[in-house]
Amino acid sequence: MSSPLRLTFVQSASRTDQLPGSPIEVAFVGRSNVGKSSLVNALANRKQLARVSNTPGRTQLINLFEVESARTELGTMVDLPGYGFAKAAKNIKRDWPEMIEGYLLERDNLAMVFVLVDGAIGPTTLDVQMLDWLRYNGVPHTVVATKFDKVKSSKRATRKKELAGGCQLDQGDVVWVSATKGDGIDALRSLVRNWVG
Ligand code: GDP
Repeated sequence: MSSPLRLTFVQSASRTDQLPGSPIEVAFVGRSNVGKSSLVNALANRKQLARVSNTPGRTQLINLFEVESARTELGTMVDLPGYGFAKAAKNIKRDWPEMIEGYLLERDNLAMVFVLVDGAIGPTTLDVQMLDWLRYNGVPHTVVATKFDKVKSSKRATRKKELAGGCQLDQGDVVWVSATKGDGIDALRSLVRNWVG
């Protein structure tokens, strides 16, 4: 088993230009409720680092963490606000695309964006739109399918095929994880460490 990522919360911001510079950064993005907070907590083996919550508003900011490593200049990891929360206030819904798009297009040294897709139901239309947008803008990204434990063993082969196909990817390009059961967490930690470890 790989050791947990040691993450230190640095700052929340509503715009890219409010964030401190970073030598190298990875980001996590996904539809609200996709399991992003649970995954960030699982990567760090912490319970409350990212807030697991169904309350809109709390996670509507860009959250930046430093990743402890042997580097002199520490790499960073960003937890982006979830997109498409039906119950979010109107202004939040209006603001997120600008906030997220601004971040993804303007952030210097953004090396990899991990796009979370719900493994049980994804990709949704919004996920596909996000992936198309990332491809169109040439933003490097990796699809992470969450909640692997929710897919019955008998359905896993089909679900993996469907999800990869829906994302226009080969099955081997998708990283499957379960924050609850721990599947794939080591593999994802290694991918993150490849960039910022
Ligand atoms: P976020 O809105 O993307 O940050 O999602 P959360 O981490 O708050 O999770 C949304 C819901 O999905 C919560 O009820 C979590 O308990 C649940 N969840 C998250 N990850 C998993 C997982 O790996 N397996 C299962 N079964 N449920 C999960």
